[in-house]
Amino acid sequence: MSIEEEVNIATAQDNARRSAASMLASLPARLQKDEDRIAAQLQRHKGNAFAKITVLHDLLNAFGAAMAPFTACKAGCDACCHYNVSLFPIEARYIEHFAGHKQRGDPLPAQDFHGQPCPFLKEGRCGIYNARPISCRLHVAFTKTAYWCSPARSSEGQFQQIDLTGIREALVDVASASGGVAHTDIRQVFGVPARWTAT
Ligand code: SF4
Repeated sequence: MSIEEEVNIATAQDNARRSAASMLASLPARLQKDEDRIAAQLQRHKGNAFAKITVLHDLLNAFGAAMAPFTACKAGCDACCHYNVSLFPIEARYIEHFAGHKQRGDPLPAQDFHGQPCPFLKEGRCGIYNARPISCRLHVAFTKTAYWCSPARSSEGQFQQIDLTGIREALVDVASASGGVAHTDIRQVFGVPARWTAT
């Protein structure tokens, strides 16, 4: 589909609803069950918080593969890496531990970062892909094109997402037990790319 065909926002929203419904209809039953049980599974898990986050990442990787044929998301598209990107303290520590990026000693004040690139965006790609936060993994565009993903347009309407409540609940459980559930933007804890810093 050409990008012009989704300039009409109602068309794009309808496409997103249809694609999400098709994806859900084709989702393997095993994945749905895994998602339903993940919070209870992690409560029984004997590993530490990082091991539990890795279990969530693995499950989301499986969802990502199942969703990919129904989304406009592809390598090199970085529009949503310019949105606000929330993460929990345990996820920031996960990035620090597994991707080797130190958190700022003095977190930046909460603010609207929409339109500014994530500090880990490098030449259109995620520089911490395997350690990226769960909010990045949950956000997909079920539209046919990325026209409405542009940060300049993305606030103009709501687009269908899927609600993986089991994964969200499991993440909150892990975060509660390991540093708290205060939502922070990734730029507050890891900084803003230099050209976006006020001079
Ligand atoms: S962590 Fe990676 S995927 Fe998430 S916003 Fe940053 S660059 Fe994009």
